[in-house]
Amino acid sequence: MCDQHAPLLDRLLFTGLLIDTGVDGLYGRGAVFEDVVERFDDFITRFGGCDGATRVRFPPGMNRALFEKSGYMKGFPQLAGTVHAFMGGEADHLQLLANMEAGTDWTGGQKATDIVLTPAACYPLYPTVAKMGPVPADGHLYDLSSYCFRHEPSKDPARMQLFRMREYVRMGTAEQVLAFRELWMERGQAMITELGLPLTVDVANDPFFGRKGRILASGQREQALKFELLVPVTSTENPTACLSFNYHQKHFGDTWGLQTQDGETAHTACVGFGMERVALALFAHHGVDVSAWPASVRKALWG
Ligand code: ATP
Ligand code: ZN
Repeated sequence: MCDQHAPLLDRLLFTGLLIDTGVDGLYGRGAVFEDVVERFDDFITRFGGCDGATRVRFPPGMNRALFEKSGYMKGFPQLAGTVHAFMGGEADHLQLLANMEAGTDWTGGQKATDIVLTPAACYPLYPTVAKMGPVPADGHLYDLSSYCFRHEPSKDPARMQLFRMREYVRMGTAEQVLAFRELWMERGQAMITELGLPLTVDVANDPFFGRKGRILASGQREQALKFELLVPVTSTENPTACLSFNYHQKHFGDTWGLQTQDGETAHTACVGFGMERVALALFAHHGVDVSAWPASVRKALWG
């Protein structure tokens, strides 16, 4: 029997919705969980699909040189994941195997590859678009989705290390990108309400690292650059950010030399959907048995 009062993660693992890998925040997804994620993905497209966004998909790793230029390590060194690989000779190989056998560290000799794990779906996009020349007068609109990595191991199933982020990204003038963010803040609330989930929207900050980071975080809040749509998932007191609405001002425009037609630095904004977090919110509120979900919710997702 699945105990409805057991912690959410235990219920998800017991019912095979998520699959334990032995690492906190790293889970396999069962067929039903995956179906809910895919239905929600389509649900997003039903709201955003008529806007004419260019659909692009990057793999969950990005060019390390571009990642370095993005400044991610200045803000979030604690979250980044780099891909390292064995590049030694035969003697190094023997040493590696001996270390493994002895249970001592065998990873020290691994060397950084040209790939890092994607921290947010939009990161590989900006340098790609910047190479295409000035942003057209009506701006750019992109539809992205990627598995993202963040080194934040946790027992909270809503804080995964590898999770999917669907995003729409707008580039253009301040007016264009702010209108986009406004539109998605409205749409996001309509979507989550249609899914029968309680929500609040609040100003937020990114988890910038260290003392300098605290200053950046409070500046971000004062200027209301980031909003989150929060749903209680594992706690009522600390609801989980399921959607984020970010206005980057000229940050990425300056970083990548992204300009508008009249030579001004382009502004950017993005809306990010935490695919697993929304699925978890649905299971937390409507139960682990999707056939017993409210008819209105089933209709919204399965039609
Ligand atoms: P948080 O404040 O909870 O750490 P965030 O504000 O850093 O999240 P964003 O960088 O805005 O998150 O990422 C976009 C979306 O990706 C978030 O709204 C959230 O739904 C999802 N997300 C972020 N981190 C995780 C995670 N560790 N596990 C699952 N989903 C996540
Ligand atoms: Zn983004």
